[in-house]
Amino acid sequence: MRYLFLSVSVIIIILYWCYSVESYTTFKKTLDPEKYRKEILTDTHFVCWTGGYDSTFRICQLIRARERVQPIYLSMEDVDDDRTNKNRVQRKNKKNEIQSMEKIRGLLEDKYLHAKYLLLPTLYINELVSPYPEIQKCAAYLYSKLGWFTRKVNQYERILQLTYKLSEPLEICVGNDDGLSKSIKKFVVDVGRNCRLVHKLPHKYKCACIFGGVRFPIIHLTKEDMLGIATDEGYEKVLAQSWSCWTPVMVKGQYLPCGQCDMCRHRLKL
Ligand SMILES: [Zn+2]
Repeated sequence: MRYLFLSVSVIIIILYWCYSVESYTTFKKTLDPEKYRKEILTDTHFVCWTGGYDSTFRICQLIRARERVQPIYLSMEDVDDDRTNKNRVQRKNKKNEIQSMEKIRGLLEDKYLHAKYLLLPTLYINELVSPYPEIQKCAAYLYSKLGWFTRKVNQYERILQLTYKLSEPLEICVGNDDGLSKSIKKFVVDVGRNCRLVHKLPHKYKCACIFGGVRFPIIHLTKEDMLGIATDEGYEKVLAQSWSCWTPVMVKGQYLPCGQCDMCRHRLKL
């Protein structure tokens, strides 16, 4: 009886192994990288999501339209400034941004059944490996000569470094009233998902070509426009959960927006 049991077990294990190998080889045969790139990647929006008003609006807009989204969050410590700078600007709201994104994800999944499948798990970028010196140089030029950025090293420089490592364009959610959009909007063509930098830039602005891998899907919209669309499309309450404040304050054991920083002052009352 014991031998019979052992024999049956061995046969089951061998059959299972054969089945696994067969499944694996079939999978390998059908996985065509080119097809994957064309059909899956090009059909996915890679969006820089911070949990803030503009990027959350874009995420809601895409999910409602049943588009697949790969959110990307830059979580490295020196996202806003050079790590060798002793007095560097450091983000104080990282925890709040991440909490907001988790909350918003939950609300979207409750509201739209397909959100669970179309809003992919957020990709957290903790480190930028081997940044390109050419991009650093151009970003420094845009900062010092053209005043496009407020610091030599800033989140946009980090994002641009990332675009050079991605195979697909990355969406940056700057609205019409954003500081960067004031500089860049005269050099963009097309609207929405295809809004991108023109190929031929005036000589003085050649360094802006580092934005080549970026798309500006909401650069034509003001914050009021976004609220109007969100209300029409029914996700204004989700948008209200976005987090904008740079310097949150602790009140009775929980962090609240300070109401004083630029982000708080420019945020609409929702
Ligand atoms: Zn604030």
